[in-house]
Amino acid sequence: MTTLFRHLPAVDQALGALAADTGRAARALRAVLPAVPRPLIKGLVNDFLDLVREEIRAGAHKDESQLSLPALYPRLLAYVRLGARPRFRRVLNATGVVVHTNMGRSLLAPEAVLAVSQAAAHYSNLEFDLSSGERGSRYAHVEGLLCRLTGAEAALVVNNNAAAVLIVLDTLCKGREVIVSRGQLVEIGGSFRIPDVMAKSGCILREVGATNRTHLRDYEAAITLETAAFMKVHTSNFRQVGFVKEVPLSELKTLAATFGLPVIEDLGSGSLLRLDADGLPGEPTAAESVSEGADVVTFSGDKVLGGPQAGLIVGRREIIERIKKNPLNRALRIDKMTLAALEATLRLYLDPELAKSRVPTLGMMTRSLVSLRAQASRLAALLRRRLAGRLDVSVRRGVSRVGGGAFPEADLPTALVALVPCAGLALNVDALRQALLATDPPLVGRVEDGALCLDPRTLAPSEHALVLDALRQALTDAG
Ligand SMILES: *Cc1c(COP(=O)(O)O)cnc(C)c1O
Repeated sequence: MTTLFRHLPAVDQALGALAADTGRAARALRAVLPAVPRPLIKGLVNDFLDLVREEIRAGAHKDESQLSLPALYPRLLAYVRLGARPRFRRVLNATGVVVHTNMGRSLLAPEAVLAVSQAAAHYSNLEFDLSSGERGSRYAHVEGLLCRLTGAEAALVVNNNAAAVLIVLDTLCKGREVIVSRGQLVEIGGSFRIPDVMAKSGCILREVGATNRTHLRDYEAAITLETAAFMKVHTSNFRQVGFVKEVPLSELKTLAATFGLPVIEDLGSGSLLRLDADGLPGEPTAAESVSEGADVVTFSGDKVLGGPQAGLIVGRREIIERIKKNPLNRALRIDKMTLAALEATLRLYLDPELAKSRVPTLGMMTRSLVSLRAQASRLAALLRRRLAGRLDVSVRRGVSRVGGGAFPEADLPTALVALVPCAGLALNVDALRQALLATDPPLVGRVEDGALCLDPRTLAPSEHALVLDALRQALTDAG
């Protein structure tokens, strides 16, 4: 065994072979190599040789011919190619979940993508007032748009909606009591829970009402000298049905006004458009919240709105000014690329029809079943033609979701492309799903009723060729 170790190629030899290879895969690798740090490649070659040493120890290699550079080379090349890829990369989302929190939530409109790349590559007037030549405010670029779109007097943007809630509470309510209905003590996922955010911002939560029913008199009875605000939390990711009651914002506002208290509303998903006519009823818009009397409203930039990750805060000028001066604001501020994407996205909303046609999240949420069926048929035909004998391909009815905790009860009807590995293939549906996670790019679908289902809602037609390629890789890798 010890003699076998001596036959392993040296690191420099292996690197030389990668540099000299004229095959397609090696050329593809070399095309990106100048931008891959050499220590990374060297480390990968070392790791690969360590792997082979492990195999020798385990008795997997019987003679030295298996350990020559030419014998090991194809595996080495594949190993380096996989390892040299960035960790954070594109995936094909075939789950049909539009605002998929684990896959980057919203895709940006082309206008926003362009704005981001401009902001990233060039200097900008981020905090530079071009009329005076003096220092300006980064928020000025979007404040006017946000006010116009929501009817609010003033606006501010922070890193995400969790940060927005935190800074609003910290500014207005620190050390004092905030009255919230028991039916609205929401957990968003991860570690964001309203009671925990309250605690973190130094406020005292005063829960009122019962889980299913809260009355105006419950709020009234809870008011003390310590009360700082009423807070309403939109239960965006679940619905209560049956014997339920929540106090409408307008009634809460009337009560609050008599006591001189502000009303805070955390809208969460925060739509800027009514989507009832598109089959998505029930989600309040930021403008409605403002007009019904919320003094300050918070919502996400990358959920239903379809922009970059951001926490949008709109409301009364005096309150927004106080929030802007909170030292936390500096810690939670957005960067120039977010700002660029946000301005470009918000501009589209000035014309709702334009927003629907340009903002991918809106487009995917509101796609018609007819167009989904047509796309599913085209994808199915392509896969049937090119993967005949390996995959059984059919089209079936299914349901997509908005995701991101928005429109939780909206079943969006869709057409799914259902894939089942042909009998005779040593691969079941679960193994296929797993193998597709390792392809380039990875393809994420969902297993449903014995098939791997691809939902065209979250796949662009221009991605069909990549889907085919990923399936080919998965089927090849599986032997
Ligand atoms: C999603 C959500 C949040 C958190 O927003 P992020 O942008 O994910 O930080 C807060 N409150 C509600 C009601 C939400 O739905």
